[in-house]
Amino acid sequence: MWLRRSKTRARVHNAPAPKFACSSFKDVHTLLLDDEPAGGGSPGSSLESPTKPSICHRSRSVKTLIRTLSQPAPPEEIRIPGAEQTVVVYFTSLRIVRRTFEDCKAVRSILRDFRVSIDERDLSMDSGFMDELRSILGQSPEKNSKLTLPRVFIGGRYVGGVEEVRRLHESGELKKHVEGLPASEPGTCGACGGYRFILCDECSGSHKYYSEKGGFRSCTLCNENGLVRCPSCSCAPL
Ligand SMILES: [Zn+2]
Ligand SMILES: [Zn+2]
Repeated sequence: MWLRRSKTRARVHNAPAPKFACSSFKDVHTLLLDDEPAGGGSPGSSLESPTKPSICHRSRSVKTLIRTLSQPAPPEEIRIPGAEQTVVVYFTSLRIVRRTFEDCKAVRSILRDFRVSIDERDLSMDSGFMDELRSILGQSPEKNSKLTLPRVFIGGRYVGGVEEVRRLHESGELKKHVEGLPASEPGTCGACGGYRFILCDECSGSHKYYSEKGGFRSCTLCNENGLVRCPSCSCAPL
């Protein structure tokens, strides 16, 4: 190309003007064609098209950002990630506090009537559920007295306790909340008999194991009651 151009330039003085003009325009045209992207389109549109939408897009993004910042922040929603397809109930099966026991029983009974998948987390079977619930609700362990049971999450979203569930049930809203959730498995789980926990295989439910070096140690695979969640019917703990 350069060789050809220098030849062309050299001819400027000798060759007739029309021939030079024709030859040089052809070269420029070829250069322009080489610079154009494959697939056609005018040079103008090929330069402008990638720029225009990006400016518009940026302007839209800024507008969205301003709108988001100027809106009042919505109340923070309490959620259990990964529990979108079930109802999670934190409750106790112990009768220590009669009112709490009755409330837990009532809520479980209301929810069971919808025959949807329910993950019942009994705090009396595993104290780990207590820490789990506190962490979800953002409560510090010092506020022991404030953690009332039951606590219900539907489709991963926190619904409330017995009062909220009763109110939603009476207004017919609860049915809408559980709609679309998978149906519960019929019958009682054969592995745990419906308790949702089984004895730890590792320590046979003693929550201790003997090590030659350190003597008796706490089993790390089960809870303080020597139980592990039933693999057949319970979701994995958080
Ligand atoms: Zn164990
Ligand atoms: Zn089971």
